[in-house]
Amino acid sequence: MRIILIEDEKRLSHFIKKGLTENGFAVDQAFDGEEGLYLASHETYDLVILDVMLPKMSGVEVCKKLRLLKKETPILMLTAKSELEDKVEGLDSGADDYLTKPFEFGELKARINALLRRSYHQVSNNLTVDNLEVDPIKHTVNRAGKMIKLTPKEFAILELLLRRKHEVVTRTQVIEHVWDYNFDSLSNVVDVFIGTLRKKIDKGYNIPLIHTLHGVGYMATDKKPAS
Ligand code: CA
Repeated sequence: MRIILIEDEKRLSHFIKKGLTENGFAVDQAFDGEEGLYLASHETYDLVILDVMLPKMSGVEVCKKLRLLKKETPILMLTAKSELEDKVEGLDSGADDYLTKPFEFGELKARINALLRRSYHQVSNNLTVDNLEVDPIKHTVNRAGKMIKLTPKEFAILELLLRRKHEVVTRTQVIEHVWDYNFDSLSNVVDVFIGTLRKKIDKGYNIPLIHTLHGVGYMATDKKPAS
C-alpha cells in the first residue's frame, strides 16, 4: 500500500517513513502543504497522512482542496495534543480519522489498517484466500497454519492482491500501490517478485493462489481465473 506522508517535522517524518517501509508500505514524503497537495492530487495513494500545522498551506486547507478535487483517498490527520479545535475542523474538512501527537507507532499502524480496511470494503482485519491468511497489523503470513517469511515488498504485493482478491490487478497498479515515487517502472521487477512470491506461497500445495494472467495482470484467487 502506498502512502503520502505530509509532515514538516523532518525527524518525525523520517521515523514514520522508516517504520512504515519496514512494514511493506511505500511512502512518499512532502514537507509542506503545497507540495503535499500537489503529490496527493497527481499520484495514486492508498492513504494520506496529513499534519495540521504545515508551512505554505495548512493541513486543513490541503484536506479541503483534495475533497474539492473529488479525491476520495482516506486521510489520517495528525494533530498536536492541545489542538482540539483542529480535530473538529479537520474532520469537518473531510478527514477520515485523526491521531494526536505524540503517538505510539503501533497505534498509527492500527489506524492506517482500519482506514485501508474501510476503503477496500473489508469486514475483518485479516486478509484470506483459501487456507492463506495475512495479518496486516502483525505483519504475518501463514498457509494452512505454516508461517511463511516474506520480504517487505513481497508482503506488500501479496497484501494488495488479497485486498482485491478474485480481481485482476494490473502490473501498473502493483507499481502504483507498492513502490514509491522514485521507482523505475520500465523494469520487469514486478514479475520477478511475483515469481518468488508464488514459490513461497504455492509450492507444495495443490491449489495455486497467485496467478499471472499474461498481458493482463495478476490475481489472488482459489478459483481458476478465466482468460
Ligand atoms: Ca507541523
